[in-house]
Amino acid sequence: MFFVSSHSGPEQHVPLTVIGMTTSASVPTEPEAATARPGTVTDRLVDANERYAAAFTDPGMDARPVLRVAVVACMDARLDLHDALGLELGDCHTIRNAGGVVTDDVIRSLTISQRALGTRSVVLIHHTGCGLESLTEEFRHDLEMEVGQRPAWAVEAFRDVEQDVRQSMQRVRTSPFLLHSDDVRGFVFDVKTGLLSEIDPT
Ligand SMILES: [Zn+2]
Repeated sequence: MFFVSSHSGPEQHVPLTVIGMTTSASVPTEPEAATARPGTVTDRLVDANERYAAAFTDPGMDARPVLRVAVVACMDARLDLHDALGLELGDCHTIRNAGGVVTDDVIRSLTISQRALGTRSVVLIHHTGCGLESLTEEFRHDLEMEVGQRPAWAVEAFRDVEQDVRQSMQRVRTSPFLLHSDDVRGFVFDVKTGLLSEIDPT
């Protein structure tokens, strides 16, 4: 992945420059903790799931989010949406991608969320130190040079996280497919303090 943050600890031997490098060179070295244990990372997850399921009881919910809210956020590993927002199982829809960008596919998910599953509010969350701030659309060019095919998607890189939140809010508010666009709020999550800052839409 191209997400290489400047906060990486000394145990992680990852490249610090992401602009202009080939995509094959952009795969970070695995942290020691992930390789020291027997089995693959996925094996660990499956083991953890067995313990989870052993203690799990059917909450008896249907698929409609209890709080009628959809949260669109960056996929960043430092952002624990449920803990950061005090969310419980069943409370919300969570839609995540690189950057928390409101792409056509996010609009697809929001449209289904609102029209089929009853959500009414949208919360957008970007964050400090996002990997997309250190990328440019040159990433697509490099990809094309490497694999011989230009990706159909935009990288959606940005320089100003607040402005990008505003653009995301605007994309949601102006979508013709959504039923509810009056309660759309955008925030930047600070990965060092855990605090959200709300972004003025104007
Ligand atoms: Zn990010």
